[in-house]
Amino acid sequence: MRRIFCFGGISLPTKQRGEVFDPEAQTRRDTLGFNPGSFIMAGVICKHTKSFLETSVFSVRLYRCAKCDLVFRKENKSDSNPKKLYGKYYRKSRNEITVGRFRYGLEVVIKTFRFFRAYKVHALHPSARRVLDIGCGRGFMLYFLRKFWGIKKVVGTQISLEAYIFAKNKLRLSVYHEDLSKINLYDNYFDLVTIWHVLEHVVEPERYIAKIKSILKRKGKIIIEVPNYNSWSRKIAGEYWLGYDIIYHLSFFTPGTLIFLLKKYKFKILKTHTFSLEYSTFISAQSIVSRITKTDSLFFKWIQGEKIEANISMHILLMFFLLPFCLFGNLVLYYTHYGEVLLVVAEKP
Ligand SMILES: [Zn+2]
Repeated sequence: MRRIFCFGGISLPTKQRGEVFDPEAQTRRDTLGFNPGSFIMAGVICKHTKSFLETSVFSVRLYRCAKCDLVFRKENKSDSNPKKLYGKYYRKSRNEITVGRFRYGLEVVIKTFRFFRAYKVHALHPSARRVLDIGCGRGFMLYFLRKFWGIKKVVGTQISLEAYIFAKNKLRLSVYHEDLSKINLYDNYFDLVTIWHVLEHVVEPERYIAKIKSILKRKGKIIIEVPNYNSWSRKIAGEYWLGYDIIYHLSFFTPGTLIFLLKKYKFKILKTHTFSLEYSTFISAQSIVSRITKTDSLFFKWIQGEKIEANISMHILLMFFLLPFCLFGNLVLYYTHYGEVLLVVAEKP
């Protein structure tokens, strides 16, 4: 093993050998309500070669794999160049002090959410000493883990250039400006790998799970959060569901398909729920407002600083009217399969 990446004096854990996949065969799944067939083997990445049309989202077709049951969109040209696709995902503020995705006042709220995310991560794995956050945003969760919980080895990945520069230079974090699949990391190194709202963006999510397994220590944990394709608001809003985010999202997980994928790699499922304080209420309310007004997430675009031609006040009013109902609905669905956002905590055997 060698350390080959070094940014500004911050060394990153790397290895030169290729990935190692679990060669053990996986038996037929029988508890998740569908039958993917006994040919699903751990270590054999499902390429979704047999699939059927699931639905269309504004003329973009989604398919369901007949083998692994995952709902997915076929990749297009821009998906194959994620550094370009996500190049402007974060942008500098006018005063060039920070980078972000939202109007300035909201960035304070996002930072607070990142503090609570760090708190949650620490609560789920208090003894973790080496933490990797895949798609780490600007790195605030890792920063808070280091600052308030004393975790010294915090590492991130970020392909959006502005966010990567911010995490590296302003927060002094160890960050790779590369896709996880292209980074050589030590096997059996991390105590904890977190991946928040990233797995749905990647071209081959199964390859990510296999790689995460190889870099985790024995009894190491993975925390995954994604939009829940089974969500109640998708059933109401249809193609207006905010979780589709069809330009960026490629895979659409349900509790069944995500747990199946983790079990294929022998992960032990420790916890699942379908609620997120940060995302659930907002996604539900925005999806319903988009459905009522037959528009494309105008409130969400407005808070991201986009200029909106239409009168936004109606959308703001509807959002604030629906938010309490959506919060209540999502809290009721916390431990069901139908909440808005899916969180799974699993352990490597
Ligand atoms: Zn498949």
